[in-house]
Amino acid sequence: MAETLKKLDDLVSLCKRRGFIFQSSDIYGGLASCYDYGPLGVELKRNVKNAWWKSVVQMRDDMVGLDCSILMHPLIWKASGHVDKFADLIVECKKCNTRTRVDHLEGHEGEETTHHEKPEVAAREDLSDKICPACETVGQFTEPMPFKLMFETRMGANADDSMKVYLRPETAQGIFANFSNVLNTTRIKIPFGIAQMGKSFRNEVTTKAFIFRTREFEQMEIEFFCKPGTDDQWWEHWKEQRMKWYIDLGIQPGNLRFRPHADDELAHYAKACVDIEYKFPFGQGDWQELEGIANRTDYDLRQHQRGIRSITKWFENKRDTEKTPLADEHTDWHKGPLSYFDDENRERYIPYVIEPSAGADRGTLAFLVDAYAEEEVRGEKRNLLRFHPSLAPVKVAVFPLVKKDGMPEKARAIYNDLRGRMTCFYDEKSAVGRRYRRQDEAGTPFCITVDGQTAEDNTVTVRERDSMNQDRVHCDQIKNYLQEKLDM
Ligand code: ATP
Repeated sequence: MAETLKKLDDLVSLCKRRGFIFQSSDIYGGLASCYDYGPLGVELKRNVKNAWWKSVVQMRDDMVGLDCSILMHPLIWKASGHVDKFADLIVECKKCNTRTRVDHLEGHEGEETTHHEKPEVAAREDLSDKICPACETVGQFTEPMPFKLMFETRMGANADDSMKVYLRPETAQGIFANFSNVLNTTRIKIPFGIAQMGKSFRNEVTTKAFIFRTREFEQMEIEFFCKPGTDDQWWEHWKEQRMKWYIDLGIQPGNLRFRPHADDELAHYAKACVDIEYKFPFGQGDWQELEGIANRTDYDLRQHQRGIRSITKWFENKRDTEKTPLADEHTDWHKGPLSYFDDENRERYIPYVIEPSAGADRGTLAFLVDAYAEEEVRGEKRNLLRFHPSLAPVKVAVFPLVKKDGMPEKARAIYNDLRGRMTCFYDEKSAVGRRYRRQDEAGTPFCITVDGQTAEDNTVTVRERDSMNQDRVHCDQIKNYLQEKLDM
C-alpha cells in the first residue's frame, strides 16, 4: 500500500536532495521566502505552465496570449486601487514585536481568522484569544494597521523622468492596459479572453510553507471579457474548466474543493468569487487556495478610463502617484476609450470580466504533494512521484544494464534518437535497481534498459514507474510505444 505525504518537510527534503527546489541565495545563508528551481524543478514548473497555456490558449478559439513588462506606468496601480489599498491588515505582538497578518492569526481552537478582502471587516475581528505565532503570547497585540504589499523602486536617470514605480503585484492589470491593443490588432470579438503568465511580487508579511507563499512568484491569469448579463454563465464555465484542469493533470478529486467567498469577504466591485482549494499537508486548516475565480464586473476597465484621464493631474503633481487623485468618472463612461462596440447589435458597452487567477508555484507545489508516495517493495522503502506524464520533468531514462558488450553504445543511440522529442536522461552509473529508484524519486514515467538480449533480438526492457511492470519492446517500436503511453 502506498503512503501519501504526511508532512511537508519530507517533500522539502526530497526537493532539495533531488534538485527540484532550493532556498534562494543558499550559499549566503538564504533569502527568506524566495526559492530557486533546480534542474528537475525548472522542467516541472515549465510543464505546469505549458499545460495551462495549452489548455487556456492553444486549445481555445476565444483566447489569446500576452506577455507584459513587469514595470508599468504607476497610474495603472493607482487606477487598479493597489497604490491606495493593496495592504494586509497586520498586528504587532507587544511582547516579541513580530508582525502577523490578522487573518493568519490562530485562536485556541486552531481555526484561522477568516480572510477578509475588506480591511474594515477584518479590523473588527476579536483578537483577545489569538496566539502570536512567534512567542505564543495570547491576545497581546497592537491595533490592526495596514501594511503595504507592493515593492517600490525608482526608474529613470534624469531628474525630469525619474519616478517611483512598482514591481507588479499581479499580472492582471497588464491585460486590462492592453485590452484595446488586442482588440485593435486581432479580429477577436466578445466573448473572448486574454491569458498571461509571469512573475509577480508582494512583500508578504507572513510567508509560510515552502513555495506556497513567497515574495516573488509566478501567476497564470486570465481576464475573460463578456457582455454584461452573460457573466454568471461564463463564471460557471470557468469554474468548471479550471477545476477540470487540475483533475485531468492527475490531482485526486478528493483533495480539491470549491470555496465560495462569503459576502463580507468579497471585494466591493466583485459580484462573486470562488477559490479552488487543495488539501495541503500543513497549517491547521489544511485547505488552502490554489486559484481564485472572480466575477470582477466592469470595474477594472472603468477604473482605467479614470486613470487615463488623470495623466495631466499626475504631471502637475510631479509624477507623485500617491498624491494624484483619480479623475471622476465621465458621464458617458460606457462610451469611453475602453468600451466595446458590438457591431452585430449596434451597441456599445464596457465588458464584464471573469478572472481565473492561479499561482504557478502553488500549482507546482500541489502537483508535487499529490504525486508524492512512499511504498515498501521487498522490504525496502521506495519514494516516488507519480506525476502525470505531461508534467514529469524527465519522460524517459535510458540505461545500459552494464558498461560493456556494446550496451552503452546501443543505449546512447536510443537516447540520442529520443531526446529530440522528449526530455530524456542517460545513466550508466551504479546497479540498475538503484538507477530505477532514482528515477522513481524524480517522477520519470519510463526507464529503458539495454541488456544482453538486446544484441540478439533488438529488444529492450521498458519499465513503468508506478506498477514497476516491465515490457519487452522492439527498438523500432520504442517511439510509438512511448508516444502512446505518454499521450504526447
Ligand atoms: P492570499 O489570500 O493567499 O494572500 P490572494 O487571495 O491575495 O492570496 P490572489 O491575489 O487572488 O491571491 O492571487 C491569485 C493567485 O496567485 C493565488 O490563488 C495564488 O495561487 C497566487 N499567489 C498569490 N500570492 C502568492 C504568493 N505570495 N506566493 C505564491 N503564490 C501566490
